[in-house]
Amino acid sequence: MIKVYQYPHETLLQTSTPWTADDSIEGYDDLERFETDMIRLMLDEKGMGLAANQIGITKRFFAIGHESFDTFQKHAIIWNPQVINSSEEKVIDVEGCLSFKDIFVKVERPKTVEVQYETTQGKTRFAKLDWMESKCFQHELDHLEGITFNKRVSKLRWQMANG
Ligand SMILES: [Zn+2]
Repeated sequence: MIKVYQYPHETLLQTSTPWTADDSIEGYDDLERFETDMIRLMLDEKGMGLAANQIGITKRFFAIGHESFDTFQKHAIIWNPQVINSSEEKVIDVEGCLSFKDIFVKVERPKTVEVQYETTQGKTRFAKLDWMESKCFQHELDHLEGITFNKRVSKLRWQMANG
């Protein structure tokens, strides 16, 4: 059974490697069943994103989705996500992370990003994301680089959020 690891679990600190067509998920013969489980786990935990390395898998994919989003209104797992362009305009807004229970902190990120990713069927897709959806994608992508959101804020802001 998959579960969300809490910081500083070792996979949260690692850089993930690309997902290839030959890859499979340990314990699953069926990718569809895995996707259902991962999305269900994210929803149970009330997240809008969940990166593979948060459940111990250091491959480049994450679950994303929220009814308020434009592109990922329906929950999906996306593979080999990338940011190909980001706006100079930044926004500062509150983020939480399923690997840091009960910590919410304001993080500054580019307001909009243009992204590329692959669907489960192996199709390459492009999208332009704004605001919370953009923020969520960037947060999850950071995970795949081993960057957790405590590394995106000043020490002082982090201490205040933990106070
Ligand atoms: Zn997170």
